[in-house]
Amino acid sequence: MFGRAPKKSDNTKYYEILGVPKSASQDDLKKAYRKAAIKNHPDKGGDPEKFKELAQAYEVLSDPEKREIYDQYGEDALKEGMGGGGAHVDPFDIFSSFFGPSFGGGGGSSRGRRQRRGEDVVHPLKVSLEDLYNGTSKKLSLSRSVICSKCKGKGSKSGASMRCPGCQGSGMKVTIRQLGPSMIQQMQTACNECKGTGESINEKDRCPGCKGEKVVQEKKVLEVHVEKGMQHNQKITFPGEADEAPDTVTGDIVFVLQQKDHSKFKRKGDDLFYEHTLSLTEALCGFQFVLTHLDNRQLLIKSNPGEVVKPDQFKAINDEGMPMYQRPFMKGKLYIHFTVEFPDSLAPEQCKALEALLPPKPTSKLTDMEIDECEETTMHDVNNIEEEMRRRQAHSAQEAYEEDDEMPGGAQRVQCAQQ
Ligand SMILES: [Zn+2]
Ligand SMILES: [Zn+2]
Repeated sequence: MFGRAPKKSDNTKYYEILGVPKSASQDDLKKAYRKAAIKNHPDKGGDPEKFKELAQAYEVLSDPEKREIYDQYGEDALKEGMGGGGAHVDPFDIFSSFFGPSFGGGGGSSRGRRQRRGEDVVHPLKVSLEDLYNGTSKKLSLSRSVICSKCKGKGSKSGASMRCPGCQGSGMKVTIRQLGPSMIQQMQTACNECKGTGESINEKDRCPGCKGEKVVQEKKVLEVHVEKGMQHNQKITFPGEADEAPDTVTGDIVFVLQQKDHSKFKRKGDDLFYEHTLSLTEALCGFQFVLTHLDNRQLLIKSNPGEVVKPDQFKAINDEGMPMYQRPFMKGKLYIHFTVEFPDSLAPEQCKALEALLPPKPTSKLTDMEIDECEETTMHDVNNIEEEMRRRQAHSAQEAYEEDDEMPGGAQRVQCAQQ
């Protein structure tokens, strides 16, 4: 299992792993293992290989019989079964036999052992479109519970805890409520004396660091890297940075990006949309304007000579959209949506002047007599056709409801709209 060690250090490797001399006492070994194992616990972001090695070394050296075999014959002798040590060590068992089960994990999720997992803490994080275009990092200060370092999450100075007298260690209390003359209700609730942990700590033995709470509050500054091209609702996760609690695998802190609206640009995936209004003269005779991009570059946008831009027309510029996430050198398109502002009315002489310049009207073949035979009509302005259609739809639905032999819904609506 650990056959990587060179032959010559065969019976010193375990001492080196724990960082103690060969003459180390049991106490030295304990202290060394304790310190290194906490530092290297995988649940705290430590290296699982290193954690395993520590357990293996400690398991052998803490057993006087195995230690003697190891000192004399080295690691291989143990593996060959002389001391029964070696390959089958469970580092998490060693760890919890040493610390008890109450320090940050007996291996937890990584080994599928039943263990509570702390809740993830989710924070929305507002970002501007500029932030998502350019990338940024934001420093956020958060307050979190961490295992008290004075007592290693034991809550007591001695490391001892007793069964909670309130619940006899079960963590639960049963309360009985009389609901009626012959009816009672049994309710199980978490014990209030031990907050459901089942253990209590002698007042005199309470850890002064955390007052027996096992955790203390800590301010922590997290630097959130918002990468170019990240999307609205994209999550940035800090694994194991949520509140710590004894016997619990620490949950994650999760930031969910919330893209703020932009006054000029709208985003759809990797593409950007930009609204621009042209005067009628610009639309007909050409235009140019400066578009300030999200990184403050000034883009010159201009029409081609002789080109006419029609109302509601779109034009696209390649590679000026959003950078793509994790491929920031590739970019989407920038679409410009043109609105053309027409004058509300024209004076008769303006009309004459324009008619002289613009393509001729379709010639009217109607004779005066034919016109006389037509009916006069009046048109009124429709300012918002969607709104108008909604009203018409509500109206026709009402009619269909009232006279249900009539054709309901769509067909009738279409007729209305066409009339
Ligand atoms: Zn209790
Ligand atoms: Zn403490």
